[in-house]
Amino acid sequence: MGKNLTLLLSAEEIAITTERLAKEIDRDYQNVPLTIVGILKGSFIFIADLVREIQIPLDSIEFIQLSSYKEKIISSGEASLLLDVELKSIQGKHILLVEDIVDTGISTSTALEILKQKKPASIKLCSLLDKPSRRQKDVQIDYLGFSIPDYFVLGYGLDVDQKYRQLAGIYYFKD
Ligand code: 5GP
Ligand code: MG
Repeated sequence: MGKNLTLLLSAEEIAITTERLAKEIDRDYQNVPLTIVGILKGSFIFIADLVREIQIPLDSIEFIQLSSYKEKIISSGEASLLLDVELKSIQGKHILLVEDIVDTGISTSTALEILKQKKPASIKLCSLLDKPSRRQKDVQIDYLGFSIPDYFVLGYGLDVDQKYRQLAGIYYFKD
């Protein structure tokens, strides 16, 4: 761990919050077959922890991948799609999109649009983190872990140049 990394959220705090989110999801999807769609790569650890706390049987766990942060945001204000999910996994299904962080909202709103085109029965959004101060596109987060200040955070799946994803907590660089 680099010496300028400052802890924002400990592994314990994240675990408690993940448990709380799983309880909310269990409560809302009693008797409803639920498909989880994760946005790679940043949410992979969060999804792994979240699905193990969810008690209701899950229909399926799927993934999509969008262009990495600020790399390929095209001029229309959309993120580009690197990995799509099969139509039959989404059409007529109850979808919970799981994201690591909603920042400008561009990635998440793009992912929601892509999934809505495949005609799900319902679609909701779960995000571990929210940075509301930087929002450009309005996104409704149905299940939110933490609202955080405008820090560039890393760890618990979140990267800087593909590194730091393995850290158990969430950190930011103090300058
Ligand atoms: P948005 O499109 O909402 O601006 O950003 C969404 C994506 O950008 C997230 O899924 C995440 O991959 C990346 N991102 C946004 N803020 C941060 C951050 O503070 N740290 C890291 N590592 N990635 C971020
Ligand atoms: Mg992401």
